[in-house]
This record gives sequence, structure tokens and C-alpha cells, in this order.
Amino acid sequence: MDKLILSEDEIAKICDRLAKQIDTKLKDNDNGIPIMLGVMNGALPFMYELVKHITTPCQLDSIKVSSYDGTGSTGVVKVSKEPDHDLEGKDVVLIEDIIDTGITMHYLKEFIKKKYKPKNLYICILIKRNNLEMKYDELADFTGLTTDEQRYIVGFGFDYYGLFRNMPYVFVPSVRDIKEWGTLIEDDKKLTEDYKKNSK
Ligand code: 5GP
Repeated sequence: MDKLILSEDEIAKICDRLAKQIDTKLKDNDNGIPIMLGVMNGALPFMYELVKHITTPCQLDSIKVSSYDGTGSTGVVKVSKEPDHDLEGKDVVLIEDIIDTGITMHYLKEFIKKKYKPKNLYICILIKRNNLEMKYDELADFTGLTTDEQRYIVGFGFDYYGLFRNMPYVFVPSVRDIKEWGTLIEDDKKLTEDYKKNSK
């Protein structure tokens, strides 16, 4: 690792603080059972830690999307996993791992409002990066950590080619880590190819 961004302990403390803020916000609403909507796959470890600290009875759900910054204002959000619950008229807390360039959140938010018509859509993110090439200045209602770190981060939902989402802390990998992971991925690819070849 090159730099620790959030330790396991810091993540738990952040989740506790965010959960208290969310509980306070939801307390005065009278829109039925709120729904915590995690963006797959990156936000799921964060959502599961966060909801341990939320005391308001709530339901958990998830959505999987990819967003494309089309020509100017016409961004396209493609949904590959819809929420299981009917979100119409509900308080929905959208839980995402990071706002980086702001593109994903910019389109996702509008898409969810238009398609599922929640009464209120709150945004909760673990990390807000002060991106030097920010496209949309998207602000969340609840933010865990704001960072100037511009390097790629890994762990606790943040992946490296699908790997290391399961790690309990967030960090900037070292050059050596990246090298080792490259070998791991290559070896895995080779094993699968050999298996397929031999099983023909
Ligand atoms: P944005 O659209 O705001 O640029 O970022 C959207 C997505 O990019 C995030 O939801 C996250 O999945 C991914 N992302 C952005 N920065 C990082 C990073 O440093 N590490 C990892 N693993 N994913 C990132």
C-alpha cells in the first residue's frame, strides 16, 4: 500500500455519524418505510456497514447502472439491475461509493427521480473527491470523507479490475501492489484458459 485513506475504524466512525444524520433527516418525514438503495457493486460494502448504524426501520435495495457522458447534456444511464421495491412516493437514500467527476451521480439522480418517482431522494456517499477535472459539481446530502487525493483508490467496495472490494479499508495501492495484482490476474486468466482447453 502506498497510503491509507480510511482505516476500518475510521469507516465505522464515519458510518455512525452518517447514520445519525440520516436518522435525523428521516425522523420528521411521514412517507412510510424508507429505502436504502445501494449502487452495485462498489457501494454495497459501504451500505451494509452504514445500515448497521441506522436505527430507523428501513428496507435495503440495490441498482446497477452504467452511465455514459453523451454529447453535452444528453447523458445515458443504462440499468442492468432494477430496484426490487416500488420507490414511488418513498424516501429513498441513494448510497454510492464516490463522487469523482460527478458524471455518474449527475445522470443517476435524475434518472431515478424520473423513472421511479420517489417522494424524496437523498444522496449518501462515502467519499467526495475534489477532482481537478470535475465535470459536474454534484453535492451529496451526506458525505463521509472529502479528499484531495487524485490517485486511484482500492478497497471497501473500490475495485481493481473487480478485485479487492472485500478489503475492510480504503487505500492507494503501491506500484508493487499493481505489479503483483497484474500477475494474479494473468495467472487466473491462464488457469481458466487451460481448464477450458483440457475439458474439451
Ligand atoms: P464519477 O462518474 O463521479 O467520475 O465516478 C463514478 C464511478 O467511478 C464511481 O462510482 C466508482 O465506481 C468509480 N471510481 C471513481 N474513482 C475511483 C477510484 O479511485 N477507485 C475506484 N476503484 N473506482 C473509482
